[in-house]
Amino acid sequence: MTGYGDTYYARTLTDASQRPSLEESVAADVVIVGGGLAGLTAALDLARSGRSVVILEAERVGWGASGRNGGFVGPGYATGHADITRMVGSEKAQALHRLSIEGARIVEENIDSLAIGDNKRVYGKMSVLRYHDPDSLERHCEMMQKEFGYHLEVMPTDAVRAVLQSPKYYQALYDPASFHFHPLNYARSLAKAIEALGGRIFEQSRVTGCDLDRAEKTVRTSRGEVRARDVVLAGGGYTDDLIPRLRRSILPIATYVLMTETAPEKLAEAVRTPMAISDNRRAGDYYRLVDDGRRLLWGGRITTRTTEPRRLAELMRKTMVSTYPQLEGVRVETAWSGLMAYARHLMPLIGQFQPGVWYVLGFGGRGLNTTAIGGRVIAEGILGQSDRYRLYEPFGLVWNGGPFGVAAAQLTYWTYQAMDLAKERQATRVA
Ligand SMILES: Cc1cc2nc3c(=O)[nH]c(=O)nc-3n(C[C@H](O)[C@H](O)[C@H](O)COP(=O)(O)OP(=O)(O)OC[C@H]3O[C@@H](n4cnc5c(N)ncnc54)[C@H](O)[C@@H]3O)c2cc1C
Repeated sequence: MTGYGDTYYARTLTDASQRPSLEESVAADVVIVGGGLAGLTAALDLARSGRSVVILEAERVGWGASGRNGGFVGPGYATGHADITRMVGSEKAQALHRLSIEGARIVEENIDSLAIGDNKRVYGKMSVLRYHDPDSLERHCEMMQKEFGYHLEVMPTDAVRAVLQSPKYYQALYDPASFHFHPLNYARSLAKAIEALGGRIFEQSRVTGCDLDRAEKTVRTSRGEVRARDVVLAGGGYTDDLIPRLRRSILPIATYVLMTETAPEKLAEAVRTPMAISDNRRAGDYYRLVDDGRRLLWGGRITTRTTEPRRLAELMRKTMVSTYPQLEGVRVETAWSGLMAYARHLMPLIGQFQPGVWYVLGFGGRGLNTTAIGGRVIAEGILGQSDRYRLYEPFGLVWNGGPFGVAAAQLTYWTYQAMDLAKERQATRVA
């Protein structure tokens, strides 16, 4: 029993050791609420700079989205560059995109510097179109090269279909620098590195109360408390009502993943590349072979319903088979869900409420690079090394709309789904 549920990552955990819960009164320079990748990355950078840090995690390190996701690491945000440019203008949008690239590099550097031997990176990501439109991909490649020196390639349809045996697919963008990995093992390796530097991490330690108005802040769990000058709130999609304003600024959105049984021959009839694959729809499918091609890990669908649907595995299986009918007989061994945090503007929420009270959350479905840069800029802010966190100031703590926001988000998703389907149908008729 690992306490992580029945996910692929829990089944392949390299170190399942438990940490104690907080049962005392502790003092530190910084206390971090939430042991996901945002909180862990901030803590690691702070500990590396000699600060004493305490992480309080309600469940277990990496138990939230950080230990349940697709494991795809690449640049960008939950919303596209064009949207960000519309919101903040091209200069700031470019600076933000550069930070998102830096985020992916931070993950690589951490894996290298911590010598995480059990975390194999598999490089290469294909973003596949479900209709014929090579020109838009060419334009995107040119823009990325010109603006950011970031190299992408267009794969023609026959090259795509040689490795992904689905008639639904057309051209793809190939990104050689993106990679996939085991996010839970990574999160737990960060935790070990923080502890090696003197940081303390408490699991099963939900923060239920806090006093944040004095120079020395206090956060409380049911059996202990931590006093610190700086507090970092990093609860992701699991953020509760501890700070109501923060909770009201995000919508928790659920998304799902399945893992197939071991079926290498059958899977090879569909997917013939170890790369990470995603399609171009908003909340489309994403998948990758794991266990050296013996299993497929498939993610997709989003909903504002935060409880797990009945027959989740069957629901997800149907999604997979709609792209690859040849996988009809392949059994789903396990399926799970996770919560992502989205602000209304779809950009991360990174900043300082009041002196010494920091927040870093709202990474949506693009969190592996952005939690890394989010954690880093918050750590730099606390250390007084930079005010790069201010680049995220234009995306403030906007009200999520309450129940109307939830309904609107679900409606927007259904609208996008309908638009994507219409576009796919129209474009495939033309092609
Ligand atoms: C199924 C799924 C697939 C995804 N796939 C990808 C992908 O392939 N690539 C990508 O880039 N992104 C992906 N994402 C998004 C990415 O996983 C998240 O954006 C990112 O992990 C968020 O990290 P976080 O630290 O903000 O939150 P989390 O990892 O959710 O961590 C927050 C933690 O805070 C704790 N917490 C909350 N409240 C309290 C409290 N009061 N006291 C103590 N602890 C508390 C929670 O228990 C939780 O562990 C995916 C997400 C999901 C759910």
